[in-house]
Amino acid sequence: MPLRMKNNNDLTRTKTSGYSPQISRDTHVQYVKGVGPARANLLKRLGIETLDDIFFYFPWRYEDRKDLKKISSLNLGNHETTLCEVVSSDVITTPRKRMKIFELTVKDETGFLKAKWFNQPYLKKYFQKGQKVILSGVVKGNPYAAAGLEMESPDYELFGNEDELIHTSRIVPVYKATEGLSPKQIRTIMFNTIKASSHIVKDYLPEDIIRSNNLMSLPLAVKEAHFPEEFTDVNVLNRGTSPAHRRLVFDEFFLLELGLAVLKKRETLEKGISFNVKDGLVDKFLKGLPFELTNAQKRVLGEIRSDMQRPFQMNRLVHGDVGCGKTVVALVSMLIAVENGYQACLMAPTELLAEQHFINIHRMVEALGLRVALLTSGIKDKPVDDISGGSAQIVIGTHALIQETVQFKKLGLAIIDEQHRFGVVQRAALRRKGFNPDIMIMTATPIPRTLAMTLYGDLDIAVIDELPAGRKPVITKVFFPSQKERIYSLIRKELSMGRQVYIVYPLIEESEKLDLKSAIEGAEALRKYFPDIKIGLVHGKMHHDERESVMSMFKSGDINMLVATTVIEVGIDVPNASLMLIVHSERFGLAQLHQLRGRIGRGVYDSHCLLLAYPPFSEDARRRLKAMESTGDGFRIAEEDLAIRGPGDFFGTRQSGIPDLKIANIIRDIGVLEAARKEAFDLMETNPDLDRYPLLKETLQRKWMGRLELVKS
Ligand code: ADP
Ligand code: MG
Repeated sequence: MPLRMKNNNDLTRTKTSGYSPQISRDTHVQYVKGVGPARANLLKRLGIETLDDIFFYFPWRYEDRKDLKKISSLNLGNHETTLCEVVSSDVITTPRKRMKIFELTVKDETGFLKAKWFNQPYLKKYFQKGQKVILSGVVKGNPYAAAGLEMESPDYELFGNEDELIHTSRIVPVYKATEGLSPKQIRTIMFNTIKASSHIVKDYLPEDIIRSNNLMSLPLAVKEAHFPEEFTDVNVLNRGTSPAHRRLVFDEFFLLELGLAVLKKRETLEKGISFNVKDGLVDKFLKGLPFELTNAQKRVLGEIRSDMQRPFQMNRLVHGDVGCGKTVVALVSMLIAVENGYQACLMAPTELLAEQHFINIHRMVEALGLRVALLTSGIKDKPVDDISGGSAQIVIGTHALIQETVQFKKLGLAIIDEQHRFGVVQRAALRRKGFNPDIMIMTATPIPRTLAMTLYGDLDIAVIDELPAGRKPVITKVFFPSQKERIYSLIRKELSMGRQVYIVYPLIEESEKLDLKSAIEGAEALRKYFPDIKIGLVHGKMHHDERESVMSMFKSGDINMLVATTVIEVGIDVPNASLMLIVHSERFGLAQLHQLRGRIGRGVYDSHCLLLAYPPFSEDARRRLKAMESTGDGFRIAEEDLAIRGPGDFFGTRQSGIPDLKIANIIRDIGVLEAARKEAFDLMETNPDLDRYPLLKETLQRKWMGRLELVKS
């Protein structure tokens, strides 16, 4: 809470006369020395609003300016720092643009150096002849002075007065700046704040965790990460692996994992439904399947069964590469709930996918005499009465399912398909739809296991790590526009053998219209090229009924070629489709390409994925296409994706509802992550309500911004 103070400036002037007892972590930055309301607004753009935000706004890199060079040994092009004496200064006005340039000439016993600053004529007052000054900047040659060196807008400090040197002669932090607030100004604010108020930063970690993990104290770590004094290897600092960084990284992971541990603890304590696992419906269903479950499917179903039997709420993530057969696993779980007199629902990320699930599941359970309902926002006569009355035993839908107006009679199991688009928050909304229904999340986003634990640390994880027998790898190859004839002949060959084909067009966020146009035009061109072939078109903007009829015609084989935007990315299942052409494949993300490719290779036929790429494209695009050509393994794809994109982007933590990682890097700091996770989960066992650590509890609550319902104070 921002402080209301009679004389706000008092606080900032107490530097030497002791600290105001009123300042706290929540003190608004505008009351900080050298800030004020105008700069506070600028800082807000950087996400800095309170004193606490300042402490935890870390530099993105460091520069070593300890090493003072003589002018004669300055290296052209390098960032260098030098101590010298002012010889003369001048303000020059450029003739054309009338820009004011302040020029400073300095010397030491080895030579002369010029420095210039643009539009800062007031600097002239600052530098007096004979004054010792430290300059730090990139060394350039001056084209107008034969052998002269110069620096453009270097950082500067007067040498010899009482003040400590902030910007030179030390390892200097470099902060991300914003318009109107330079890195140097931010550095000054940081320095003053940390010097005057860092006593506010309190160590909240339990003593024994600090000791057994060899951690630096938090106040020291904060100081050192901003203005390193003790640890001065600039490379280690820049890699983010100094002892100070290690402590800060540990804390980020620890607070993340502790939050997940809290969620998990609450869920395991939460009473749930104890389903009675009879095998009537399930057996009947399995007998009717045209195939035998894989061992992986059986194993995962075994885990789900025992989850459902226990009187606690199930929270399980089922993870498996595209095509491993997650739908059947979901369906069997739903049948267990239905057999116990409960309803079950399946929530999909897109309308198209919900529709497809509905069609499949409807067909599969028809013989069992069950009622399946579909609920999406596109459906006019919403089956709300069937859902609230309980006559619909299985409900398939989109996030329309979690809207306020939908009431279940007796929801016992909720399944979320393709979880990467649903976060912690939506999960909670779904939970409120029933009396603690069991929850299962299915995802194909292949994540290395340790990382999955981090992101879904509050869930139990089961992996379907086996594809149904007889699947053949999809042969994947990159093609260029000049090879169109070759592409067409490959397509024709598949069609002539009775196979079906997908043609996928990209979806660029800014211009959905344009994409649609390209898919529609693409379909038109293909119709001319393949006049004898039945071609269908699906896209997201289409009416529900129309889309459904195209899809069912493709399924039944009445349409041979399906032209689509990326709406077909997930869940479509047509085993007879054996070729996919992805147009502008260079624009797609790697995970998306892998998902798309998962639509083929589902039957017994050899399948081909043709990646049509339009050069020139980026190095990243080249790596993505290469990865697609070289492997079909979702985990290897995920690792490569992680390597190309970097962890922040890969995880989209903001979207998933867990706290942001600002300084920690899931890949680089995996060891720290594991240690922090262990400590967090252990602590949850020994002191589940954290009442021995009030400060930790408070910090945890802040970090999760109220999303941790359990942590009651
Ligand atoms: P995903 O895990 O990608 O959602 P699906 O559930 O859509 O995969 O299954 C892909 C295809 O594999 C479907 O056609 C499904 O009927 C089939 N399938 C699932 N399990 C098996 C199995 N044990 N043996 C053979 N085919 C299977
Ligand atoms: Mg699926």
